[in-house]
Amino acid sequence: MSKKKAFKAESKRLLDLMINSIYTHKEIFLRELISNASDAIDKYYYLSLSDENITADRSALKIQLSVDKEHRTLTISDNGIGMNKDELEENLGTIAKSGSLAFKEKMEAEEKNDEDVDIIGQFGVGFYSAFMVASDVVVESRKAGEEEAYRWESNAVDGYTIDKCEKAEHGTTITLVLKEDSEDEKYSQYLETYEIENLIKKYSDYIRYPITMFVSHEEPKEEGSEEMQLVVEEKTLNSMVPLWKRNKSEITKEEYNEFYKNKFNDYMDPQKVIHTHVEGSVNFDTLLFIPSKAPYNYYSNEYEKGLQLYSRGVFIMDKASELIPEYFRFVRGLVDSQDLSLNISREMLQHDRQLKAIASKIEKKIKSELVNMLKNDREEYEKFWKNFGLQIKFGIYNDYGMHKEMLQDLLMFTSSHEMKLTTLDEYVSRMKEGQDVIYYVAGDNLDKLDKLPSAELVKDKGYEILYLTDNVDEFALQVMMNYQEKNFKNIAQGDLNLESEEEKKEIEEKAEENKDMLSDLKETLKDKVSDVVISTRLKSHPVCLSAGEGMSFEMEKVLSQMPEGNP
Ligand code: ADP
Ligand code: MG
Repeated sequence: MSKKKAFKAESKRLLDLMINSIYTHKEIFLRELISNASDAIDKYYYLSLSDENITADRSALKIQLSVDKEHRTLTISDNGIGMNKDELEENLGTIAKSGSLAFKEKMEAEEKNDEDVDIIGQFGVGFYSAFMVASDVVVESRKAGEEEAYRWESNAVDGYTIDKCEKAEHGTTITLVLKEDSEDEKYSQYLETYEIENLIKKYSDYIRYPITMFVSHEEPKEEGSEEMQLVVEEKTLNSMVPLWKRNKSEITKEEYNEFYKNKFNDYMDPQKVIHTHVEGSVNFDTLLFIPSKAPYNYYSNEYEKGLQLYSRGVFIMDKASELIPEYFRFVRGLVDSQDLSLNISREMLQHDRQLKAIASKIEKKIKSELVNMLKNDREEYEKFWKNFGLQIKFGIYNDYGMHKEMLQDLLMFTSSHEMKLTTLDEYVSRMKEGQDVIYYVAGDNLDKLDKLPSAELVKDKGYEILYLTDNVDEFALQVMMNYQEKNFKNIAQGDLNLESEEEKKEIEEKAEENKDMLSDLKETLKDKVSDVVISTRLKSHPVCLSAGEGMSFEMEKVLSQMPEGNP
């Protein structure tokens, strides 16, 4: 057998591939460098727990940013574990080599699981994203516990150099010399305070160590004075502890509301907040909101469903649509999980079991919260129903009733019983003895429906009728077929079978007496109706039209108005 050989890689080409094809957004370079700094501080802190020569003052651990507009540099500095010469060589000189992954694996192998360590890195490629925006990258690092410091420098094109340098403290300082602006790319935006603040808020807000920067602002020299002075102060840009990681009992309603409004650009408080921490086969925190009003574009193609996704507090993507089913697409919110499989760019999810498990838990949670609302706060639920009930009804109709079990108990329709919204369960609980179907009738106006000749008759017999006024309603009931084994029956269609034996006999006699008139009428109307009969469904009205079995008048009408024949 011939000897196995290692693959050779054309490093320069590989690096070029890395830099230019993994990421869709150049701005993530900052997220990657900050995540590395956070990992380095975690490792330093972890080391201090076991090595008595190293002491870590937790409050002094931080990540500092600074810019130099004149020299077009952006600097990210941490007082973490640092790297010695060999580590610089290994970690930054070898593509896809992750010192952090090795660290994490070692910790796991030793079964040391420290709450205070939450390593983000794993793929060994994030660092190179710096070259998407920088023509030159300089890394100065000093390993904790060692005296010497080293400078790694590269322009990506001609490899890298490592030289000795001076550094007073342990940790790593990374300086990016930003590329020159071009027609389509303004690299100098990364020198602007507000842009840096935005990126930190977006991607790194929940990094557990402070990310600081010196910022300047003008303020009056003395209180009330007109003379202004420039004040420079160190500002912390991230909020560090995510709201969803905090103890529920310590979070006020206002905090939730403010968080929702800021994050999801709504001017109204959410109707409902759902905050849960799930542990088990899959671990995650989720913070979900039901808006108080449907967004203006909700029922258009413009509206995108999905939850924000975080992995270990680092922002991954904005609208992870797989996490929320179509019929709950009005729910806004986020999921943070350490169990997600991310692709190498950390911009996307692998579609795996974990993701499905999270989605299914979220779906059940939303359902149970809605059921609780329905039980405990009727007024709130009806408000919810007015906003998003249509979505739920479409949820039943779509996919041929596949989600009937999930959704049927959430349904509401106006009923002839007090002309109020009712659930199917409530309807069934009021059914008269011997009533074996759920009566309904569809049309676009409640008043008209209530005055229909057939409605009068059914009500007269003491039965309740659901009045369906949205186009999708009747279609939804048709795909459901039944509820608690009670079939749905359109009172404007087919034979209602409501009359007693005596009444039946009376009608037969009348039909016999009026045979000639009926057949004359049928002859005259032969292009328009299929039969003319003596009716049992009339009370105060002289005649009515009635559809045969199959499609009802209303459904025919709805379908004929739809371009694709869909309600
Ligand atoms: P990953 O973070 O996925 O491991 P990176 O390409 O971002 O991959 O970084 C490669 C490795 O370089 C890291 O695993 C870590 O060992 C080392 N490294 C990067 N930045 C720092 C830093 N600021 N301090 C210490 N080590 C670092
Ligand atoms: Mg990294």
